[in-house]
Amino acid sequence: MKDCIFCRIVAGESPARIVFHDEQATAFCDLNPAAPTHVLIVPNKHIVSVNQLADEDEALMGHLFTIAKRLATQEGIAESGYRLIVNTNAHGGQTIFHLHLHLLGGSRMKHPMG
Ligand code: AMP
Ligand code: ZN
Repeated sequence: MKDCIFCRIVAGESPARIVFHDEQATAFCDLNPAAPTHVLIVPNKHIVSVNQLADEDEALMGHLFTIAKRLATQEGIAESGYRLIVNTNAHGGQTIFHLHLHLLGGSRMKHPMG
């Protein structure tokens, strides 16, 4: 997807602070962080949102969570805690239409959600 900013980051064509990369997924710092730690974890292949997930993407989605766990430890927020968010479409507040998992931590998250 040439016009997708996250595909361009995955391909190394747009700048980002990459904190993890393998054959299936990439993680990078959010440009406009909402918390001291704010990392986005994305599948390398273009998936628009959770609505477009296929059965064969199950392992890939599990992989995103495992990366989140590893990065939380690496960032030193595993014990203090963190929040994982996936926004979908307008009511979910999705603005970039390449599926991504937000990893937020380093301060107490606000409640309630929604
Ligand atoms: P969402 O609202 O869930 O679609 O989240 C999109 C996130 O992507 C926002 O938190 C933005 O700050 C972030 N973002 C947008 N463009 C970039 C970029 N070029 N590099 C890193 N993060 C970005
Ligand atoms: Zn994309």
